[in-house]
Amino acid sequence: MKRETSHNLRMYLCYAIVISLHLCTWGTLRSQPNISNIEEMQSKAVDSVKSIRMAEMTWPDIKSAIEQGYTAVVVAVGSTEQHGPHLPTMTDTRIGDDLAHRVAMKLGHTLQAITITVGCSKHHLSFPGTISLRDETLRMIILDYIESLIRNGFNRIVFLPMHGGNFPIVQATLKEAQIAHQGIEIIGVTDITKLLVCMNAASAEFGINANESGAHAGESETSIMMALEKNLVIKDRFAPGYVGLTGEKELKIIFEQGMPALTKNGVLGDPRKASADKGEVYLDRLTEFLIQEIKKQSHSENSIFGWISFWVRLHT
Ligand SMILES: [Zn+2]
Repeated sequence: MKRETSHNLRMYLCYAIVISLHLCTWGTLRSQPNISNIEEMQSKAVDSVKSIRMAEMTWPDIKSAIEQGYTAVVVAVGSTEQHGPHLPTMTDTRIGDDLAHRVAMKLGHTLQAITITVGCSKHHLSFPGTISLRDETLRMIILDYIESLIRNGFNRIVFLPMHGGNFPIVQATLKEAQIAHQGIEIIGVTDITKLLVCMNAASAEFGINANESGAHAGESETSIMMALEKNLVIKDRFAPGYVGLTGEKELKIIFEQGMPALTKNGVLGDPRKASADKGEVYLDRLTEFLIQEIKKQSHSENSIFGWISFWVRLHT
């Protein structure tokens, strides 16, 4: 009899636990917003991120954006260097900044950190207005950006070098950072050859050959600046610079002896066929190219883990 009572007591206790667990679950479910509420909340959250340029945002807005899933960030690496007699010294920085913004918008849930405005431009130093960092300085700046952005709460950091002299430093530094910060996605589009192939393919559609399109202040770069900063482009100074192959031999001359050894006016290419309309096309093509390259490298696109973290980013 005694044994039966204790058996019954244990049974009632079990029922009580099961029922209370059900009630808790029901309560939790009831407190969840329904699907239309979730959609409403998400659209409000997206609406509340007015700008993705961190330089134009306050810290509470950046904090709130990160909490809403904006955990990826894009950084352009520009330069301050001569761009022939017709383009301003901020050309690479201005183009990089615009492309980084376009890329961040297209990736979605991505902010843009302030562009690095000075790069490695030793080979341009004989032209006034050029300011150059030592390789080690740029390395340290990139590492400090990464440390800071991780502290901010970002888990995906994308670097976009926009000046030839920066590419090898950015590439080596990102490899170093990837080893130091294993849990963070650190990505860079650091293959300059592919970038030039993309640009030359767009030039070919306009009937402009790669030598005119040019590697520095030629038709393509001038067209882009006409689209972005038409008041800063001096059309009556358009003149060809070095218009020939820019292969390994020429790059060796440039990096060892400086730009004047190959071009007296600082231009590689010919800006005379440049136009703002072409500039818009170049910007679109470059944006698409950068997005494709980022997707190829991104865990988010390539693994189940990535899809899960992408889903979590989107829904938290
Ligand atoms: Zn440039």
